[in-house]
Amino acid sequence: MDLPIITTCEAEACAYNRDRTCHAGAITVGDTVRPHCDTFVEVGAKGGIATETGRVGACKVAGCRHNHDLECQAEGITVGYVKNEVDCLTYAPR
Ligand code: SF4
Repeated sequence: MDLPIITTCEAEACAYNRDRTCHAGAITVGDTVRPHCDTFVEVGAKGGIATETGRVGACKVAGCRHNHDLECQAEGITVGYVKNEVDCLTYAPR
C-alpha cells in the first residue's frame, strides 16, 4: 500500500518544509482527538529528504472518515494552519 502523499503544507516554518512541500519520510498526525501534524518541528535548519515528498505514516485520529485501523486511507492530504495549530486539512469527521 502506498502511503498517502502530502500534496501541500503551508507550515513553512517547519524544518521539513521547503516551498510549501513536506519532505519528511513519513509524518504522524493527531493526538486521538485533534488532527494536528505531530511531526512539525522548528529547529532553525532544514531536514528531511529533499528529493522526496512527504507521506502520512500514521494517523491517530480514529474519528476521521479517512481513517481505518489508525491508518490514513485518503489518496493525499493537505496540511495547514487552523488558528495557530498545524493541522491535517483533509480531516473529515465521520
Ligand atoms: S485525512 Fe483523516 S485519517 Fe488522513 S491524516 Fe488527515 S485526519 Fe488522519
